Amino acid sequence: MKFKFFFVLQCFLFTTSCTNKEQMVASSNIETKVYRNYKTLKPYLALTFDDGPDKIQTPKVLSLLEKYRVKATFFVLGEEVEYQKDILKMVVSQGHDIGNHFYKHINIKKASEKEIKEAIESNNKLIEKVIGYKPKYVRPPYGIVTDALKKVCGELNMKIILWNKDSEDWNKTPDSKIIKYMLNKPSNGDIMLFHDGSKTYTNTLSSLDVIIPSLQKKSFEFVSLSKLFDS
Ligand SMILES: [Zn+2]
Repeated sequence: MKFKFFFVLQCFLFTTSCTNKEQMVASSNIETKVYRNYKTLKPYLALTFDDGPDKIQTPKVLSLLEKYRVKATFFVLGEEVEYQKDILKMVVSQGHDIGNHFYKHINIKKASEKEIKEAIESNNKLIEKVIGYKPKYVRPPYGIVTDALKKVCGELNMKIILWNKDSEDWNKTPDSKIIKYMLNKPSNGDIMLFHDGSKTYTNTLSSLDVIIPSLQKKSFEFVSLSKLFDS
């Protein structure tokens, strides 16, 4: 009897200590969520622009957004911000959100946690120096997500933002194709990917000049990511 009691007690203690251990491991492994879209009750859509700020392309995008009174989010590269601080300030002064697209457009498939952290934090610091605050959103170059990235973003308390609607405007996609794709089955909380880097993109502007008013006519509202996540 006595032996049986101790055996049961030992099993109980063993199980409890394992559970605690697992919980401890889980809580020290803070990971952040990856968003491809964000389902909202309101008919909100999020336009996002990567690879800027660019001296020529970004102001063109800004005037188009202004024409339709639309807010968007710009995922900027640190190495571009270095030379285009005034353009970045202009984006912010017009009420748009800023996100972090790393300091350089690197492929993080094999990057260590330390390398990823440096690439994000150096850009955060630079952006903060120019506009006064750090961004809350990260978009990894090429949309590559790794466990190391999720861990770093969890530690930095930043959301990883991908997209569920890719214009492929960087690839010289004809504007008719971009328009057809973006107008097909729009849904609340869609996140749309465009570019405003130096290598772009007449089709970006000509397609958006049709896409934005067409979706506004269907009662959709284009909002920054902050407004999307606050809704
Ligand atoms: Zn990019």
